[in-house]
Amino acid sequence: MSKGNINISTENIFPIIKKFLYSDHEIFLRELISNATDATLKLKHLLSIGEAKGEFGNPIIEIKIDKKKKTLHIIDQGIGMTEEEVKKYINEIAFSGAEEFVNKYKDKLGETGIIGHFGLGFYSAFMVSEKVEIITKSHLEGSQAVRWECDGSPEYTLEPTEKEAHGTEIILHIDKDSKEFLEESRINELLRKYNRFMPIPIKHGTKEEYVSVGEGDEKKEEKITVDNIVNNPNPAWTKKPSDLKDEDYKDFYRELYPMQFEDPLFHIHLNVDHPFHLTGILFFPKITKNIDIQKDRIQLYQNQVFVTDNVEGIVPEFLQMLRGVIDSPDIPLNVSRSYLQADGAVKKIKDHITKKVADKLASLFKNERESFEQKWDDIKVIIEYGMLSEEKFYDKAKGFALYPTIDKKYFTFDELKEKVKDLQTDKDGNLVLLYAADEAKQHSFIEKAQAKGYEVLLMNSPIVSHLLQKLESDNEKTKFARVDADFVDNLIKKDDTKISKLSDEEKTKLEGIVKEIVPVSTYSVQMEALDSDEAPFIITQPEFMRRYKEMSMTGGGMMGFGDFPDSYNLVVNTNHPLMDKILNDSEHNKDYVNQALDLAKLSQNLLTGKDLTDFVKRSFELMK
Ligand code: ADP
Repeated sequence: MSKGNINISTENIFPIIKKFLYSDHEIFLRELISNATDATLKLKHLLSIGEAKGEFGNPIIEIKIDKKKKTLHIIDQGIGMTEEEVKKYINEIAFSGAEEFVNKYKDKLGETGIIGHFGLGFYSAFMVSEKVEIITKSHLEGSQAVRWECDGSPEYTLEPTEKEAHGTEIILHIDKDSKEFLEESRINELLRKYNRFMPIPIKHGTKEEYVSVGEGDEKKEEKITVDNIVNNPNPAWTKKPSDLKDEDYKDFYRELYPMQFEDPLFHIHLNVDHPFHLTGILFFPKITKNIDIQKDRIQLYQNQVFVTDNVEGIVPEFLQMLRGVIDSPDIPLNVSRSYLQADGAVKKIKDHITKKVADKLASLFKNERESFEQKWDDIKVIIEYGMLSEEKFYDKAKGFALYPTIDKKYFTFDELKEKVKDLQTDKDGNLVLLYAADEAKQHSFIEKAQAKGYEVLLMNSPIVSHLLQKLESDNEKTKFARVDADFVDNLIKKDDTKISKLSDEEKTKLEGIVKEIVPVSTYSVQMEALDSDEAPFIITQPEFMRRYKEMSMTGGGMMGFGDFPDSYNLVVNTNHPLMDKILNDSEHNKDYVNQALDLAKLSQNLLTGKDLTDFVKRSFELMK
């Protein structure tokens, strides 16, 4: 037996490891299983290049709890270590064996998928243990098994021991603060969180299964006990897209998110080799109003080891509503988010993901337009958000972003402009695109616009005001107006002049009467000579103020506008027969004005409370 001191610069590193290094003590298990996986994959690699003898077989990693002894065991069938290797790799803390291994076999390495470098690796065992044992035997012929033990001080013991097969068993003597890690349920939870897709099968306990034995009449079901394997070593994202069917992607989605009952709309399989490694599958979920973005998020893996489901800084913000998996060994871990943002490799990864998503959408649009149109409502928020937040995505999305009309026709922006340019160009040469935000609320305005042959878009996502603003600044002489921004002839001003039935004098008098009765702090009165069969009063909401207010309320540089009251115009149709009565029947004109105002409010959904009660009363009075 040999004793020694672990070669570290400070005596006090263990308490530091225990307390401060990781706030997440639970990651020790991920680290140890990663080491066990590496050891197994290394053996596979050595066998494949003829530098080790024997059969790879079907090695597994076993996790065992011994409640009586208060120990947790991680057992692998990998390369194991000789005494010298234990001294070197385990005792020289700063020495990274994985690094040396990679350097040595760099050019022969290919796709071994070695994990390495998560940070502290093996020593994270001391975060939860009062004592750690390693029993290991190298795969090299004639090797002597050794047992290493350390109680968390820098002293260790190392002695020969008995072990039949090559590989390593790590025994954690769990300390009293960490008793939770002796609970099956807690270990199951960790295995599920971190190791669900690791490449070597992980056994935790056993389970009973029924198999049929015998032939013909002799055939019967028999109960057998089998290893309980907790992971899927070959998750879909590690496979070639050409080997997967649509159904396989859906199955994988359900495997990832068992609580999601709705199928994803479509998937994007990522597979990059240069200039960085990245694989993964992203899914577009159905975005519903009550979607919980915090739940079922994109998961980040490194060589099939779960790292986090907070992909902030790695996946562009607008795509964080997607689901799925990203696996890349090239994303630096254990660094701050701000570092991530500045990191060149991460920036490239982000751009690549954006590009892939855009390309997929473009191809769906091109090849399956009808189904793309059907899905539009469910994906538009993500796309519109992307158009606003990533210029590169905006450029690509121009080709496939859709603008649906009230009657469910779907145009791209260019198609729309082409379609409406003859009817919807105003006298100053501006193309005016009309839209509604709410089909029911703006019904009367939509009807008026459609009667003129105009196309009315239905634009109802929360960030639409920002999008319109951007489209306008990007397309000269193109303007958007909500159908209730003005009365229909003013929305798209043509050259025809209107003849007023009233003289200027009468108009001034009428304006005076109206202004005395309607609350002018709420409504700006606008006298217009409309057709006599148009409504006497129309309430409109000028585009500019309304849009800025909406932009201010949904964030993004328009601070302050949100506090403004809504601004409304009251369009008075001077050609309507009612104006005669208002001008000449001084006994009742107050009732006429109020009644016409309330009707206008009613068609804009503005009549509520006392005003509504008064309106109902007045209407009954007028019927007498
Ligand atoms: P890293 O894995 O980042 O190199 P660790 O501290 O986790 O750092 O492990 C140090 C070294 O110890 C590994 O590189 C490996 O050579 C060796 N090692 C750890 N666990 C095992 C194991 N289960 N089987 C064989 N070697 C191991």
